[in-house]
Amino acid sequence: MRKLNMYRPGPFFLGWGLFFSIIFPLLLHLITFIAGNNAYFSLAIRASNTIGTVVILILCILICFELLQDKVLDRFFEKNTNVKIRISEKYFECQKCGNNKVHEDQTYCTICGVGFKDKQKAPFNIYY
Ligand SMILES: [Zn+2]
Repeated sequence: MRKLNMYRPGPFFLGWGLFFSIIFPLLLHLITFIAGNNAYFSLAIRASNTIGTVVILILCILICFELLQDKVLDRFFEKNTNVKIRISEKYFECQKCGNNKVHEDQTYCTICGVGFKDKQKAPFNIYY
């Protein structure tokens, strides 16, 4: 399962949600104020409000899911501080201190002294 990050789609959802729930209904209200009330405009205003609310609700659900996912990942890394993770073809990174010059054959970190155990599978695909 791929890790969910909302830093790119978040503003997209928020922008469209605010557009449909505030900006577009205000424009339609302005048009009905100038041109007179019309049943189609009031229906369009309600539909736009509904669409905007649904988009913002989806955003809230995705943000809650991301927070839950980050909590699970945080617990995973707290339990697995004495592993080394490959960061390039030559080097690994110590998860205890962040030393990124660990070689494949090293059994302990030269900076913090932690002994490495076998890498466990992360609950999400965190490397992309
Ligand atoms: Zn270390």
